Amino acid sequence: MNRLMHSKYYYTYLLQNWASMVNNQQYTISHVMVDGAAGLTSAMLELPLARRLMCWAHVIRKCREHRKLVKNKNKWISVEQDILDLQLIFDDTIFRIATRLMIEKWSLDSELNEFKSYFESQWLLSLPFFYEGATMFTPSTNNGLESLNGKIKQQYTMRHRLPLSAFLQTAERMLKDWSFDNEKTPFAYHITYKEDLEKEAFAWSQKVDKSQITPIDYGMCVVPAKEPKMNVQQWIVMFNQMNWTTYDDLKDWLRSARLLNCTRLLPPWFCTCKYEMKEYACVHAIGLMMFWGIRAIPQQIGKRKGRSRPKKVKLALSKD
Ligand SMILES: [Zn+2]
Repeated sequence: MNRLMHSKYYYTYLLQNWASMVNNQQYTISHVMVDGAAGLTSAMLELPLARRLMCWAHVIRKCREHRKLVKNKNKWISVEQDILDLQLIFDDTIFRIATRLMIEKWSLDSELNEFKSYFESQWLLSLPFFYEGATMFTPSTNNGLESLNGKIKQQYTMRHRLPLSAFLQTAERMLKDWSFDNEKTPFAYHITYKEDLEKEAFAWSQKVDKSQITPIDYGMCVVPAKEPKMNVQQWIVMFNQMNWTTYDDLKDWLRSARLLNCTRLLPPWFCTCKYEMKEYACVHAIGLMMFWGIRAIPQQIGKRKGRSRPKKVKLALSKD
C-alpha cells in the first residue's frame, strides 16, 4: 500500500465514488445528524462544509433533565413550551431572531437565569441545528439510526468488540441480509396518504376562507392556520419585515398562517405546519391540491348517506 492509501482522504474519496456509482447521483455530504457525543465533534472536522444537525429528541430530553434549574413548576411549563415552539421554526433567519427574543424574554425573570445560561451555551452556541428549518424533508431525530445500531448490537455483534477478521465476516453477513430485505421491501419513492388524512384535507378545503389563500412569489402560497391571531395579508407583511418585538409576538405570528411551497409536481409539498415538517403530510398541502383540482377527491367523501339512520355498531364478540 502506498501512502495515499493509508490516508483518511483516500477512503473518503473511495466512499464518495462508490456511492455515486451505486446511486447514479453525485454524493455530497451536506448534513450530518448526530447526538451530543464528543467523538462526533472531531469527526465533523473532516466535513467542514456539512451542517451538524442535532437530534431533537436528545435536545428536549436533556432540557427536561435540567428542569430543576427552574424551581417554579408553572414557569418550567412556560419555558418548555417556548423551546417546543422554537423547534418548529422553519427558517434560519427567523430562528436567529427568535432565539434573541426568547433569551430577552427569559432575562426578564431572574428565576430563569440558571436554565437560560445552560440553554444558551449548550443549545444555541454549541449545537443549535435542532429546529425544523435547519434542513428540509429530513428526520429531526436520529431514532432510525439508533434503531439500526440496536439491531447490529442485538443480532450481529452481540455487544462484543470483534477482532477485524470476525468483524469483516459479520459486516458481510449484514450486507447480505439487508440487501435481501431491501429487495423484499424496496425504498419508497412516493408518499401515500392515509384515508383519514385525505378526508380531513377535503374538509379543510371546504371550510377554509378562500379569500385568504394567497399565492406569493416562486410558487409559494400562504394559507390561514386554525386559530389565527392576524389575517394572511398581515402575516405576509410581518414575514417580509421580520421586525417582531417580543418572542410571544413572533410565536403568535408563527401560529397564524402556513407557508407552502407548491412547485413540486408530486407530493410531498413543503408546509410550515408541525404535521408536514414532522410527518411530510398535512391537510394544507393535500387540501390545496384538491382545491386546485390537482388531486382527486376520494369517492367515499363525495357519496351522500341514505335517508335511514345509520345502524348502531354491535359490541365486539357479541352474537348477531
Ligand atoms: Zn400544513
